[in-house]
Amino acid sequence: MKMFEAARTILKQLFLSPATNKFPAKYAPASTIRFLDSVAKGELQMIAPVTVPSGFRGKIAYDRENCSGCQQCYKVCPTQAIEWLPEEKKIKVFISRCCFCAQCVEVCPVNTLAMTEEFLLSSYDKFSDELVVVDSGELPGSKKRKKAGTEAGEEPAPPS
Ligand code: SF4
Ligand code: SF4
Repeated sequence: MKMFEAARTILKQLFLSPATNKFPAKYAPASTIRFLDSVAKGELQMIAPVTVPSGFRGKIAYDRENCSGCQQCYKVCPTQAIEWLPEEKKIKVFISRCCFCAQCVEVCPVNTLAMTEEFLLSSYDKFSDELVVVDSGELPGSKKRKKAGTEAGEEPAPPS
């Protein structure tokens, strides 16, 4: 009986498509960076990566405008990927040092940090613009900064 079930499973597998996603190309490129450059120029096509699962921890996004400058992310980061900018009371994140633990995201009291789904981060220059996060614009979950005469999260009163 078990032999029959095993044979049936093997036969079924023979007719299924392989589960492996041949990303980024059918054959591994000699240089992934050169390959991605060619894709950016439209010279080559890339096989799309699989959709990442919910809760995936990719490149950090930072909402600079709404950051309160509390330094909690800076203090909790285990890899010193976050630089504190005392004059501006803001931060800067060096992705090349980040271990994608998401502790900074969890500790941020105003939700101005988030893990995105972006994971194509290879670069020859660890200080390139793509790998140093200074400002990603407003994040959907950010608590808006309190403006003069308003409570946090409220729109300022329209001019009279
Ligand atoms: S995800 Fe972890 S390692 Fe990366 S910046 Fe945040 S706390 Fe630091
Ligand atoms: S924890 Fe959030 S609010 Fe505090 S400094 Fe970091 S990003 Fe800004």
